[in-house]
Amino acid sequence: MSHPLLTFLLNTLFPPICPICQALMSDANGICPACFSKMRFITAPFCDMCGQPLNMPENEGTSYCPECLKKPKSWQRARAIVVYNDTSKQLILPFKHADKLQLIPILTRFMLLQKEFISEHDLIVPVPLHWRRMVKRRYNQSALIACQLSKQTGIAFDPCALKRIRPTIPQGHLSPDERHRNVRDAFRVSSAHKIIGKRILLIDDVMTSGATATNCAKILLKNGATGVDVLTFAKALKHNEDTINEFFLS
Ligand SMILES: [Zn+2]
Ligand SMILES: [Zn+2]
Repeated sequence: MSHPLLTFLLNTLFPPICPICQALMSDANGICPACFSKMRFITAPFCDMCGQPLNMPENEGTSYCPECLKKPKSWQRARAIVVYNDTSKQLILPFKHADKLQLIPILTRFMLLQKEFISEHDLIVPVPLHWRRMVKRRYNQSALIACQLSKQTGIAFDPCALKRIRPTIPQGHLSPDERHRNVRDAFRVSSAHKIIGKRILLIDDVMTSGATATNCAKILLKNGATGVDVLTFAKALKHNEDTINEFFLS
């Protein structure tokens, strides 16, 4: 597939289109410049623990948002590539709910912007689906991305390290408290010997309240992981940055 002539022929016969706005493009596995410009990339300064952008000058040392200072997360560091907005959700939702598996290389390319961060880990673990949802959807979107990240970085990948032992309801319309209740005790480690002493990178598509990652990290650490970090493609912002800034300066 990587032969230049074959690529040329394929691109001529089936020109690549932007998966968000369907504009014709010269290059496959990407999005068009107009959609790219609407993606909001998360760059420093951001909270070192939850990845929330901080509207303050970057200073020496580690910065935390008010929420993490008050109540530290169960994981160490979470990173996300982009803010969850009207543009980035058009890559996530069709991938998650409409079988658009052709989005995997695009999402993987974006996630690899954090290649250095990924490389600091021993094991890549996706957030699992309950088997009932897996049967319905036929694939675990986080596991497909995690597998590609493992291939591209050489970091080991274990799609079965975590198991979802009870079904949880989709969290889209739940309040933060309801989300935490929804996923509490929902996960188990399948074989502890595989995670003991490992620095684990948990992969998910979107982080919203962090309830799922919290519970996954807790169970991994309880079973002997030396550290858990989280990488998601997108992060839903809870507060706008002005609010964060007000908090920080008060
Ligand atoms: Zn586009
Ligand atoms: Zn934070």
